[in-house]
Amino acid sequence: MLTTGPVPVYPEVLQAMGRPVIYDYHPAFQTYYANVIDKLRLAMRTRLAPVIMQGEAILGIEAAAAALIGKSDIVLNLVSGVYGKGFAAWAARYGKEVVELAVPFDEVIDTEAVRQVLRRRPEITVVSVCHHDTPSGTLNPLAEIGKVVAEHGAYLIVDAVSSFAGLDVHPDAVDADIFITSPSKCLGASPGLSLISVSERAWQKIEANGDAPRGSFLSLLGWKDASEPGRSFPVTPSISEIYGLDAALDRYFSEGAENVWARHAQTAAIMRDGLRQIGVQLWPKREEWCAPTTTAFRVPEGWSDAALRDRLLDDHGILVSLGRGETAGKVLRVGHMGSSAEPSFARAAVKALDEILSNRTST
Ligand SMILES: *Cc1c(COP(=O)(O)O)cnc(C)c1O
Repeated sequence: MLTTGPVPVYPEVLQAMGRPVIYDYHPAFQTYYANVIDKLRLAMRTRLAPVIMQGEAILGIEAAAAALIGKSDIVLNLVSGVYGKGFAAWAARYGKEVVELAVPFDEVIDTEAVRQVLRRRPEITVVSVCHHDTPSGTLNPLAEIGKVVAEHGAYLIVDAVSSFAGLDVHPDAVDADIFITSPSKCLGASPGLSLISVSERAWQKIEANGDAPRGSFLSLLGWKDASEPGRSFPVTPSISEIYGLDAALDRYFSEGAENVWARHAQTAAIMRDGLRQIGVQLWPKREEWCAPTTTAFRVPEGWSDAALRDRLLDDHGILVSLGRGETAGKVLRVGHMGSSAEPSFARAAVKALDEILSNRTST
C-alpha cells in the first residue's frame, strides 16, 4: 500500500490499539493521556502542550479556522494545491475577507510574492498555508514564509498533515501559530485524530474571539489543558486511538527523528531517480520542489490514470493513489510515509512501472 494516507499502520501500533479500553476518568488514564500529550509536545519540539482532537485532521484544520479567524480578520490564503485551495471556504465562513495568492499546482509558493501581498495589504491579519500539498507532491518553503509572516505580525495557520514526522518541520521553527497534523501519515498510525500545536498568542486571540466555538465538537478551546489533572475531557477521547498514537510516538523516538526523515528522503530520491531512468516525468516542474513524502508523476501518454493504477495493483500488488481535484486524471502518486517510506518499496514500484510501460498492451 504505497498510498498517500492512510498508510499501512506499524504492527506495534496495531498491537497497542488492541489493548483493553479503560474508563477515561480513571486516574490511570488521565495520567497516561497527559504523558501522551507530553510525548507529542516533544515530537513537535514545542513548549506549550499541544491538543488532540477526536477526528481525522480535517477536523483540526476546520477547528483552527473557526477558533482563530474572527469577523474582522483578513486572511491571506496561499494556494499551491487542492488542500490549500480548500481552506478558503473555512476562512471565508469565519473571516471578513479572503485574499488568495495562487500558483499553478505543479509549482510552489514564492516567498517574495507573499512579502509583496503583505506589503500591499497591511491589514492582513492571518495567513494560511498547506506545507506539503499532497495531491501535487510539492513542498512549500514554509520556514521562509513563516519568517515573512512573523515580520508582518500576522498569525500563521499551517496544514502540516502529510509532512510532519516525514521531514524536519516543527511549529516553533516555522513561526506557526496553529500547526495541524495527523497520526495517519508519516507517524504511521491510524486515521482518527487531529494533532494541533497552538502558540501562546494564538490562544490569547482565540480566547478573546467571542465567536470561537465553545461547547461544540469543533471547539479547540474545549481541549485546551484537557490533560491537566482535575480538568475534564469535552467528549470521551477514543482510548484506542490514543494508545495507537502513543505507540507511534515511541516508535518515532526509538528510530530517531533524524533517521526517520532520512529514510523518507532516501526513499523519495530513489523513486525520482527510478522514474527518470524509465522516462516517466515528475509532476512538479522542478525536482527541488518535490516532497520527500509523496512522489507525484505525470500519467504517461496512452494511459489513463485508473488503468495504470489497476495494472500496478492487479499485476504487482502495489496500490498507489490517484490525483485529486485539479490533479485528478493527470498524475499518479506514490506515498512515502511512515512504514511505506522504505527504499526497497520505491525500487519495487519503479520496477513494476517499468514492466507495465514497456509491454504497453493496455490503455
Ligand atoms: C491527509 C491530509 C489531510 C487530512 O485529510 P483527511 O481527509 O482528513 O485524511 C489534510 N491535509 C493534507 C495536506 C493531507 O495530506
